[in-house]
Amino acid sequence: MTNIPFGKPMIGDVERDAMTAVLRGTTLTHGPKCAEFETAFADYVGVKHAISTSNCTTAIHLGLIACGVGFGDEVIVPAMTHVATAHAVEHCGAVPIFVDIDIETGCIDPKLIEEKITQKTKVIIVVHFIGLPCDMASINAVAEKYNIDVIEDSATALGAKHNNKFAGSLGKLGCFSFYPTKHITSLEGGMLTTDDDHVAAKVRSQRAFGYDKGLGERQIAGVYDIASLGWNYRMSEGHAAVGHVQLSKLPYFLEQRKKNAERLVAELCKISGLSVMPPVHKQSHSSWYCVNIIVSEKLTKSRNELVGLLNAEGIGTSVHYPVALPHSKYYSQKYPIAKGKFSQAQHLAANTISLPCGPHVSDQDIVRIIEKINEILSP
Ligand SMILES: *Cc1c(COP(=O)(O)O)cnc(C)c1O
Repeated sequence: MTNIPFGKPMIGDVERDAMTAVLRGTTLTHGPKCAEFETAFADYVGVKHAISTSNCTTAIHLGLIACGVGFGDEVIVPAMTHVATAHAVEHCGAVPIFVDIDIETGCIDPKLIEEKITQKTKVIIVVHFIGLPCDMASINAVAEKYNIDVIEDSATALGAKHNNKFAGSLGKLGCFSFYPTKHITSLEGGMLTTDDDHVAAKVRSQRAFGYDKGLGERQIAGVYDIASLGWNYRMSEGHAAVGHVQLSKLPYFLEQRKKNAERLVAELCKISGLSVMPPVHKQSHSSWYCVNIIVSEKLTKSRNELVGLLNAEGIGTSVHYPVALPHSKYYSQKYPIAKGKFSQAQHLAANTISLPCGPHVSDQDIVRIIEKINEILSP
């Protein structure tokens, strides 16, 4: 019996050769590999600009700064997401204003956004939960009414679509992650996508210290001015070379994910006491980051017992996400909240299990996952 890990990077000889070629050359950063990866990524998502970064968290940080977020501003953040989404807001000296989720999709509940908007609100960050795009029509309508920008945290939504447009092209800007378990990997890495020339120029400059000229734009080598307080959030040439090869494999990866996930969903839906997060919801089509099930109180086994039994059978799982952020230690100490708030996010955090559906999962693996869950839950 082989183990089925929750996530496994699909790295082949083409990626290894691409990395080695960079290491044999002289340009390790600031070079053509990043530019090539960026052009291909922008083409795929269908946006004017894609800007590579060191990871998705730094992409969100740069995106917030480019939208003018600063000290004391407020940014709307879903209560159920990876902590990176909220931390990026904190790093701007701004305040994350949490909004509960729609339990059906795991995405921010658009009906709850408007009541949280104040004079200080600058940005709404939406998170396409485990790859399912949010209800962008409703969210963009609220944002337009109050003249607020929308940032899409698309870390787990590469290839997902809403109204036939790709995630990352649906708001002011989008942010992607190439962490090893995401749809494609560059070891660590991120990308910011936008159609806005002003945002793109600002992000390009600020990911590299706030230089006023890129390496290729300098008339005298080593001579530049500093236009703003920037960071060093660049991607290296080696990371970009790997990411670019991975992007060329994305259609195949997505096909495998869809096939695996559809089989899992079809069978898991039949088990009473489990609900399965939907792959398609209204105008949104998931990119199948994972298959989330929600364990109901009716079951004899708790979420953690079920996880333990699956892991003991060699079936890897994860939890997206283990805590409703406003109830996490850091955020609840900094911004105290009443018990019972963000109840939908709390319910998900306590009862969900993420199952693997990545391209590393075989047809036999899917059969085994379904059999084991049925076996464990049979009375
Ligand atoms: C993985 C993830 C991030 C963080 O991405 P990094 O590249 O590790 O910084 C942010 N948001 C969401 C929703 C994620 O899943």
